[in-house]
Amino acid sequence: MTDPAAPSHPEFRTAVEVADFRRNIDAVQAKIDAAARKAGRDPADVRLLPVSKTVPEERIVNAIAAGCHQLGENKVQEAKRKHGNLADLDVSWSVIGHLQTNKAKDVAAFADEFQALDSLRVAEALDRRLQAAGRSIDVYVQVNTSDEDSKYGLDPSGVRDLLTQLPNYSALRVRGLMTLALFSDDVDRVRPCFQLLRSLRDQIREETPDLIGDGGLSMGMSGDYELAIEEGSTCVRVGQAIFGARATPDSMYWPG
Ligand SMILES: *Cc1c(COP(=O)(O)O)cnc(C)c1O
Repeated sequence: MTDPAAPSHPEFRTAVEVADFRRNIDAVQAKIDAAARKAGRDPADVRLLPVSKTVPEERIVNAIAAGCHQLGENKVQEAKRKHGNLADLDVSWSVIGHLQTNKAKDVAAFADEFQALDSLRVAEALDRRLQAAGRSIDVYVQVNTSDEDSKYGLDPSGVRDLLTQLPNYSALRVRGLMTLALFSDDVDRVRPCFQLLRSLRDQIREETPDLIGDGGLSMGMSGDYELAIEEGSTCVRVGQAIFGARATPDSMYWPG
């Protein structure tokens, strides 16, 4: 099994003040715009989702002040706590990490988006809790495009089956597919992951367009978002390039 630790990026300076966040967000957004144009795409078609996992609330407040009105969190407990403590601020929460069915109730209570849907059991649990709460949520189906045991997500061959079932769960609004590419500096090994997600999306959209919503592609992180945009990403999930290098080992966020 491949080392599940995500690339750490010591070169990213920690953002503390509102001005630090503005500088980092502007820099990332400029790279997003350039990557999109280079690929002949409209930069407005790429959403930047800042990922605030491990970042304490005192700093998140400044990120929100700098314009982050949607934040991604990998772990449900952490997201729930931050949502509660920052409830009076203008921010919505996207859960981007693997979910166990016993936490579905929490996600249904506060999240506006869930990007790591990878089983019928989770879809069922989440829908039931959402129906009870009178809420609905945007979802992305997570796909394992790197063929590593160390990544969550459905095998590409199982994606259509799951999508076929999702119309039964009316509180889940399918928006597209999500993936984590192989963690590597080697572009020639990373790019095929993004290409696989895109071709899967294209194929499903062609054959059964009703199943895949907008056909969005959530792919790309601090180390590879420009490449992901070249390959069609519509949502990049960027943590360290905005908040600064993470001290917490990333192995805590992925199965090891
Ligand atoms: C942490 C995380 C990211 C962001 O990673 P960075 O290296 O901080 O940009 C993206 N997606 C998921 C699922 C994550 O857990």
